[in-house]
Amino acid sequence: MNNGENWFKKMWRGFRSAMVRFMAGRYGMDRLNSVFLWSSLILVLVAMFLPGKAKLILTLLSYLIMGIAIFRLLSRNTYKRYRENRRFLMRLDQIKDRDHKYYTCPKCRQPVRVPRGKGKISITCPKCKEKFIKKT
Ligand SMILES: [Zn+2]
Repeated sequence: MNNGENWFKKMWRGFRSAMVRFMAGRYGMDRLNSVFLWSSLILVLVAMFLPGKAKLILTLLSYLIMGIAIFRLLSRNTYKRYRENRRFLMRLDQIKDRDHKYYTCPKCRQPVRVPRGKGKISITCPKCKEKFIKKT
């Protein structure tokens, strides 16, 4: 019994160090990827209850999302992946923020936050001073 346990431990250690070597320099998990993996799982589960074409489309969509997640997980371009995740988290914050609306400056792409419910207002970009009109 003791022998079996040792054998298992050895295998596990070998597997883990192989994984660590494989993942070296690769991006790995982040919030965006966990959202991707969870939504692909949910899509597969939902697809099981759907008939014919809808099932096929949803299943393919879930594979696609899973594929993107795996690609990001194994990607060596960690800087780009990190930026994607940051952009995603920023969007998430913006959606959660019920008191403000977010626009991007049409000239320099700088994100601008304005209070909600003020009607039509003229917004001045804090970076390049470009003026644009939006409804809030
Ligand atoms: Zn601007």
